[in-house]
Amino acid sequence: MPDTNCIQVLPEVVANQIAAGEVVQRPASVVKELLENAIDAGSTHIEIHIKDAGRTLIQVIDNGIGMSASDAVTAFLPHATSKIRQAEDLFALSTMGFRGEALASIAAVAHVELRTKRQQDELGSCVCLSGGQLESQELISCPNGTNIAVRDIFYNIPARRKFLKSNESEFRNIVSVVEQVTLAHPDITFSLHHNGQLVFKLVAENTHQRILSLMGKKMDGKLLAIQVDTILGRISGYIGTPEAAIKRGAAQFFFVNQRYIQHPYFNKAVQMGYDKLIPADAKAPYFIYFEVAPDKIDVNIHPTKTEVRFEDEKAFFPILSAVVRETLGKANAIPSIDFDQDDAPYIPAAPSSNEPFAAPLPKVSFDPSYNPFKGNYTSKNPVQNWEALYETNAEHTPELQEPAYSTPDWGEPLISEQSIPCKCLQWKKKYIVCLGDNTVQVLHQHRLHSRILYEQYLKRMRTAQKCSMPLLFPEVLELSAKENALFAEVAENLKEIGFDFEPFGKQTYQITAVPDGLGDANPVQTIMETMQLLQTNTTLATDGKREIIARTLAEKAAITAGKELSDMQMHLLMEQLSVCQDTTYSPNGLPIAVTIDEKEIENKLK
Ligand code: ADP
Ligand code: MG
Repeated sequence: MPDTNCIQVLPEVVANQIAAGEVVQRPASVVKELLENAIDAGSTHIEIHIKDAGRTLIQVIDNGIGMSASDAVTAFLPHATSKIRQAEDLFALSTMGFRGEALASIAAVAHVELRTKRQQDELGSCVCLSGGQLESQELISCPNGTNIAVRDIFYNIPARRKFLKSNESEFRNIVSVVEQVTLAHPDITFSLHHNGQLVFKLVAENTHQRILSLMGKKMDGKLLAIQVDTILGRISGYIGTPEAAIKRGAAQFFFVNQRYIQHPYFNKAVQMGYDKLIPADAKAPYFIYFEVAPDKIDVNIHPTKTEVRFEDEKAFFPILSAVVRETLGKANAIPSIDFDQDDAPYIPAAPSSNEPFAAPLPKVSFDPSYNPFKGNYTSKNPVQNWEALYETNAEHTPELQEPAYSTPDWGEPLISEQSIPCKCLQWKKKYIVCLGDNTVQVLHQHRLHSRILYEQYLKRMRTAQKCSMPLLFPEVLELSAKENALFAEVAENLKEIGFDFEPFGKQTYQITAVPDGLGDANPVQTIMETMQLLQTNTTLATDGKREIIARTLAEKAAITAGKELSDMQMHLLMEQLSVCQDTTYSPNGLPIAVTIDEKEIENKLK
């Protein structure tokens, strides 16, 4: 008879590894747990040291109450906690941790070294564990507080280690967690170091100052204080003025009893408060803190504890909307920016894969043999600087075709000798209508120009032909801590295309040069938008990053609807388009032109 008993009790180490999966999903989850423990221990000073986005090292050093020699070992047992004695305690809990499984879970999937000392003890203890097994325990002399180092996360679960994303992406997750924790505890001094370098240091301050320290000075003057006391609890914090609303990546934070939470339902309430004051697709920043009795919330519904259920959710909703609305009204916050300008540059949506144009594109009829440049129009030296040409009300002035500064050779235009331009007209300040021998072509001027610029920018980056325009008045780029981390990653690519900048204080840079051809596009906004797009595409290789940068810049710099074009400008655009690799679609994959041939017209007229 075969043995039919196949149920086995898992060895404890394996069980802990499985349990660990709930708490420890990535390096950022370890950072979160260690920070919460340090805060629960009453620390006023917390240092975070990370190596290789947490793969190699996650270390948190605090000046909190520390642990006794025996607690230093017990702390790693599953369900070891100093915070609950009985099940009822769960409902009255105001501390961060509450399940006593963080340290056990972390120790199950990494090498951990804990050094800790209480003030009243002469000596501290050092405890080492690997894969959940205690390896050593000794008395040492060390400062008061706790210093815990987590090395080689998932060293014993290769599948999970492989599952980690790029260092950039993992580190950004860490910065997000640190951001959340530091915003919840502005009275604590924090510093974050990555690979030996200080990323930021935040000294104890008030909430308003903490928001500015983290988010950058760009938020200064754009925050309105809110406060309301209700029988349900207190709501306080800051909301952005309508001017602070942006389309992507707004800083939106809710905290309950000093813990960061996500709450889509309350988010909706806040959005409703902004109704009609900001465009439907824009998001205002907010930093909203709830203080409620611990027994009125259920924090235990999600293992990573960012989701919290309120007993009185429905009752909070209208209060939240109203306080936002009223604060905006009191501040007389009427938006001064019109987001719906007709000729505002089209802001591209992030591509959903590494290949921006992988999705099937809409078909448009286009005659590739159609050439609008038959004739004797001569241009040996196409002007690349569109703005230079654009500023002057250019007729066929030969000098204008000399670039004002050195421009790389983008390649000879297809037709340069003996060319006569076809007849081009501008229609509605939006389209260029080209009358060919047998066809009429209607081209979208913004899409056409962005295609030209996109290919030029991309070529520049790929061939390292940097082309900068120094800025007479350098622009200041103020970044949040998180943006700063991302900026470090893309700085090289931005330089490749022609931006130049130098450090200008904490998380601040001075933009000293911009890529030529950028025209009037705001360099700060352009860099910020590029970063937002790159942030949502973290797995991109260099060329993918370049494409995004080129696309954002091209969309920003391209002429918009409403610009009047001279004949010369239209011809120049047509000529530049004719040397593009793709003449059919804008960099965002929208058709550039509609072509109608004579036969179609004749058919319609039958
Ligand atoms: P929990 O925080 O849910 O109690 P943890 O596994 O995170 O569970 O921690 C277990 C226990 O270890 C805590 O209850 C606390 O007593 C102790 N501990 C952990 N980290 C620290 C620290 N940084 N300082 C002092 N005590 C700590
Ligand atoms: Mg804990």
